[in-house]
Amino acid sequence: MDAKDGCIFCQILAGTRPARMVYEGDELVAFEDIRPQAPTHLLIVPRRHLPSLREAVEEDEAVLGRMLTVASRLARERKIESQGYRLVINNGSWAGQSVDHLHIHLLGGRAFHWPPG
Ligand code: 5GP
Ligand code: ZN
Repeated sequence: MDAKDGCIFCQILAGTRPARMVYEGDELVAFEDIRPQAPTHLLIVPRRHLPSLREAVEEDEAVLGRMLTVASRLARERKIESQGYRLVINNGSWAGQSVDHLHIHLLGGRAFHWPPG
């Protein structure tokens, strides 16, 4: 069994699990988080199944960079960039990663605390 079998984000990417898509590109997609933690809560997800940032290699640099520029563009479209917004990548259990397919959270529309909980 492949690591991506049973991966819920791979199922969303394959179209076998529903999601509210907000961006679809060749290398990555973005969709609404099912349990939003802020008025805007999007997940930016590469099409290639990488369990976490730990598995990223040099060939992934282009898509990793693109994830940030897409995040910036979505923040502008959502009109959250002037007030500020937060990008989060949870890696591993202590960080609270619950889906083992690399993703950036884009959170905005409210103020956030620092340090994070
Ligand atoms: P993590 O905890 O791994 O950083 O983030 C995983 C995120 O995926 C969580 O915020 C969770 O709400 C979201 N999530 C889990 N299952 C689904 C799903 O089936 N659809 C969508 N759209 N989001 C999901
Ligand atoms: Zn996956």
